[in-house]
Amino acid sequence: MILPMQWNEAHALLDGAQSVIIVTHVFPDGDAIGSLLGLSHALRECGKTVIAAVDGGVPDYLRFLPGSAAVESTLNGVTADLVITLDASDVARTGEVGKTALALGKPVIMVDHHPTNPSFGTVNLLNVTATATAEILVDWLEALAIPLSKDTATALLTGIVTDTLCFRVSSVTSDTFGKAQKLMAAGAALVEITQHTVNRRSAGAFRLWARVMPTVQIEDHVIWIVIDKMARAASGLADDESDGSLSALLIEADDAYISGTFRETKEGRVELSFRAVPGFNVSQTALSLGGGGHIQAAGATVDGPLADVVTRVVPLLKAAAAAGSPVYP
Ligand code: 5GP
Ligand code: MN
Repeated sequence: MILPMQWNEAHALLDGAQSVIIVTHVFPDGDAIGSLLGLSHALRECGKTVIAAVDGGVPDYLRFLPGSAAVESTLNGVTADLVITLDASDVARTGEVGKTALALGKPVIMVDHHPTNPSFGTVNLLNVTATATAEILVDWLEALAIPLSKDTATALLTGIVTDTLCFRVSSVTSDTFGKAQKLMAAGAALVEITQHTVNRRSAGAFRLWARVMPTVQIEDHVIWIVIDKMARAASGLADDESDGSLSALLIEADDAYISGTFRETKEGRVELSFRAVPGFNVSQTALSLGGGGHIQAAGATVDGPLADVVTRVVPLLKAAAAAGSPVYP
């Protein structure tokens, strides 16, 4: 069930707080970090003390964003009047820093756009039609009459650009472009952002692709790929480095309605990443596996062994493919 946006309650909590801890989700993407930094800049610029944190800190490729170096990777011994979570679809996704922040017992403003979010905040700003959490923050800052500095705008446009794959997903509306226009007018440089994010992949990702492409299978409009821990280790990718969005690449296959990546972690768990073309839904499949996400991009992390997970999950993806029909055949 989608609850109404609690703007007034959020404003009251923010007004009453001098210090704020802001957290986002583990394995942060551009929307996670863009939202974290965008809101941090905006609140600091209006005089609040802000502590921003995420497990593992800011990934290297997003360190072009101003303020990255000030993001903490632990929160031990820290307190504040208010906690804000951004882009995290459930409590577990906020990671160790989220666990520490939420254990303070302070009020929590939860800001997110994932339809699987259970609204775990004291106050919830959940807008499932927003393309990115950063988009919700543009609305919130406007409602609070906080001006957009160049740093805030750059961070928030990064969130929108990365979550929309540069305005290519079905949740993009004219309103999304209106917000992007506002952010660019405030000084955000679109090409700087695209060159650091959607137009770029690590060399390790290509080494990984070279190894795992032979595992690609396509059956019943489902395409999937398997990345075992040996392939990952041989690619030289660090544990927190992305595989280069393989599920997003595979969904480009002509015949595919749904794509899946099965990635074995060093600990032997399996990270699942799903994509769907318009007309299909992978969020329910992810939710049923203990994960979450969006209708067309979702994921979960489950216990191995890898081969058993593939055997169990591919039929679920085939069922999701059979349950829809393509909007753009
Ligand atoms: P990606 O495939 O890019 O890793 O993730 C796509 C979407 O699925 C993200 O928006 C993210 O919220 C969700 N997602 C991916 N992995 C997990 C997971 O392990 N748990 C949950 N709850 N959501 C996930
Ligand atoms: Mn997001």
